[in-house]
Amino acid sequence: MKRLVVLGAGTAGTMVVNKLRHKLSRSDWDITVVDQDDTHLYQPGLLLLPFGVYTEDELLKPRHRFVPDGVDLVLTEIDRVDAEANQVHLADGTVLDYDYLVIATGTSPRPDQTPGMDGEEWRKSVFDFYTLEGAKALRDKLATWEGGRLVMHLVEMPIKCPVAPLEFTFLADAFFEERGMRDKVDITYVTPLEGAFTKPVASKHLGGMFEQRNIHLEGDFMVESVDNERKVLVSMDEREVPFDLLVTIPLNMGADFVARSGLGDDLNYVPVDKQTLLSKAHDNVFALGDASDIPASKAGSVAHFSVELFVENFLQHIEGRPMTHLFDGHANCFIESGHGKGLLIDFNYETEPLPGKYPIPGIGPFTLLEESHANHWGKLGFRWAYWNVLLKGRPMPVPALMSMAGKHTD
Ligand SMILES: Cc1cc2nc3c(=O)[nH]c(=O)nc-3n(C[C@H](O)[C@H](O)[C@H](O)COP(=O)(O)OP(=O)(O)OC[C@H]3O[C@@H](n4cnc5c(N)ncnc54)[C@H](O)[C@@H]3O)c2cc1C
Repeated sequence: MKRLVVLGAGTAGTMVVNKLRHKLSRSDWDITVVDQDDTHLYQPGLLLLPFGVYTEDELLKPRHRFVPDGVDLVLTEIDRVDAEANQVHLADGTVLDYDYLVIATGTSPRPDQTPGMDGEEWRKSVFDFYTLEGAKALRDKLATWEGGRLVMHLVEMPIKCPVAPLEFTFLADAFFEERGMRDKVDITYVTPLEGAFTKPVASKHLGGMFEQRNIHLEGDFMVESVDNERKVLVSMDEREVPFDLLVTIPLNMGADFVARSGLGDDLNYVPVDKQTLLSKAHDNVFALGDASDIPASKAGSVAHFSVELFVENFLQHIEGRPMTHLFDGHANCFIESGHGKGLLIDFNYETEPLPGKYPIPGIGPFTLLEESHANHWGKLGFRWAYWNVLLKGRPMPVPALMSMAGKHTD
């Protein structure tokens, strides 16, 4: 028997076990997947929960429901991997031997990494929304907040869903406008980037949307600390941004066990080949989804497209053949822009987001880099597709590799 062990039953790990259980014979392959708990959280919903669009119940489902027959689900924390011995040590003392290992343990917000962030004001006037607890606390705060200086801040890239802070800012603008209190709220977007986003064309476009909405952008801001007493963000170059309500995306880091196992970079991401997702250090270890160091967006869409190609590559690799399904960094992200509208961006390692129609060239129904109601409905509809199609490893009607069809290059 050969043994495949998958660490993490989130977006990527769940898709992997569903797809590979169909492809690997049960008489030859044992598949085990490990996660720390039995609750699968639909993370994209955390953006909308603070504005009352979703309730907590709509974002949670039992994890085991998405793990297929013939795959062992082990629910305990991962302590470390001994990649020389091909073993995973779990916190309860169990040791799992493997022939092949997939690390899909994602990335998490780490407020403890910025001085003062999780201090006195944490979840009083300093909030995150990348955790369920944070999103719920922020929802309660927004329900009664009477206005003042709202600061949306991100510590450092990469973060998962790099458009989420932009979306939060647009949604907040619309939320306060719809409540008739926009004139009582001053919105500032504080980022370590020069502009609104990492890619120049999209950054210019999104920066223009900030201007139209009277949102001030404070760029090149490398945070040094959060001063709880004075309620100011302080930068390394001694700039200060005062706030009454700070919504921050803390530093995102891969799982600590990756560092303990000597498998990670400075931020605990596993260095892999960006086209095959194979570890640079171990020929029987892959890292998928947010856990790897590939220079693509950390997004569910990237997890989805790369897993499709990984499955084909894995079947080649175990037979000793070269891997030929090379990942191009394809990402697509809906960007909520408020008032029932949104944008969509579609890009890869080489091509930045361009205007056009997606997925059917000339028709859509989604518009690229332009606001539309269809994009907003696409974002809301995705939750159904996530639970019913994507996680179960069923085919989605969009190609894994990015296509230039329907995109305008001039
Ligand atoms: C607010 C927000 C909005 C988002 N919006 C979008 C969007 O609109 N579109 C999009 O494509 N993506 C979006 N994303 C990003 C998307 O959710 C992630 O990129 C995706 O879930 C990554 O999948 P993953 O499998 O790599 O990690 P995850 O889905 O996070 O899974 C990792 C799993 O590993 C487990 N784990 C970690 N450490 C351990 C350990 N030590 N022991 C045991 N188990 C462990 C965790 O419990 C978890 O189940 C959003 C994310 C957030 C936070």
